[in-house]
Amino acid sequence: MYAKGISSLPPYLFAGIDKRKEEARKKGVDVIDLGIGDPDLPTPPHIVEALCHAAKDPSNHRYPSYEGLLSFREAVATWYKQRKHVNLDADDEVLTLIGSKEGLAHSVFAFLNPGDIALVPDPAYPVYNNATVLAGSTPYSVPLTEEHDFKPDLESIDKEIARKAKIMFLNYPNNPTAATVEKNFFKEVVDFAHENDIIILHDNPYSELTFDGYEAPSFLAVKGAKEVGIEFNSLSKTYNMTGWRIGYAVGNSEILEGLRIVKTNIDSGAFQAVQIAGIVALTDSQDSVKRNMEIYRERRDIAVTGLRAAGVEVKTPKATFYLWAKVPSGFSSIQFSMFLLERTGVVVTPGLGFGKHGEGFFRLAFCISGERLKEACERIKRLNL
Ligand SMILES: *Cc1c(COP(=O)(O)O)cnc(C)c1O
Repeated sequence: MYAKGISSLPPYLFAGIDKRKEEARKKGVDVIDLGIGDPDLPTPPHIVEALCHAAKDPSNHRYPSYEGLLSFREAVATWYKQRKHVNLDADDEVLTLIGSKEGLAHSVFAFLNPGDIALVPDPAYPVYNNATVLAGSTPYSVPLTEEHDFKPDLESIDKEIARKAKIMFLNYPNNPTAATVEKNFFKEVVDFAHENDIIILHDNPYSELTFDGYEAPSFLAVKGAKEVGIEFNSLSKTYNMTGWRIGYAVGNSEILEGLRIVKTNIDSGAFQAVQIAGIVALTDSQDSVKRNMEIYRERRDIAVTGLRAAGVEVKTPKATFYLWAKVPSGFSSIQFSMFLLERTGVVVTPGLGFGKHGEGFFRLAFCISGERLKEACERIKRLNL
């Protein structure tokens, strides 16, 4: 019944855990879910207010423009200038998205023919690989290993594959490994893209979720980047707006035009009232972002300290709301997640679910109160791993 793309998708590895989680809940187990990367904190009130107001205006009830309100795109350009020191022309270097996920997935359809190659990091956010598969194209996995600080070793990519590849996905600060990079790394990427004529799609939704003075660079802040790529960003994680579906892509106008053409044939743009609230989010006081980061930093420290006390090996990340921790010896990542859920009611995500090279690790998301995090770590400690 289904198209080839669907049957070619990798198996959904979280199904077993989802099922056991539901079963545990039904049995009355006090489940602590550290599996989901979705902010538990509410959208700041001034942004909600802006939506309520805009939703009452009938001029926002009609189809929006495909590329998004110019005023929204201008707010993005101003924000990028201020936060990332990147100059953008709001007119043709910014494209509004209904969340960055759809933009990432639709990009594949703009640039790849069936059989074409996309370089996809492994482990990674599954959309890069799976959209490529749905398009009938071929993902080529680029390992992110601990030895290489979870950055792709561009030198080691097969030369012929590199020459053939048309696009490459990247994501720093990284989900799931919480790895970060400095601008120098993006310089290497730009050179690699020029040499091999590859379009770079950099996914940057955690650009503001940083700690201890670290600032996440934009890919576009590097010389020559705008010639080879675009960057995706989103209001989802920065402003606790995952449910609102508003994001954007910025950078090379020709690349953005490809994505725009695909989108004009599939969707009809983001609700204007949400874009107007998005302008308020981007241009008003950023104090709420700072406060949120303080909360995340506190939780990060609780989780790192708690896991280490429980005998789990984990590094302190400089960004994202994830910890990428070592699976204790004797378990596969899936076995460990199942074991943890059964014995403690704590849900974590097995690394294998993000790709073959995720094996040996599990991901913990701290989108839950510090108190619950503490409780989760104490339960894990009682296992005497
Ligand atoms: C959360 C997330 C996104 C999706 O964000 P939306 O804008 O809500 O679609 C994209 N990429 C990564 C790596 C994410 O973790």
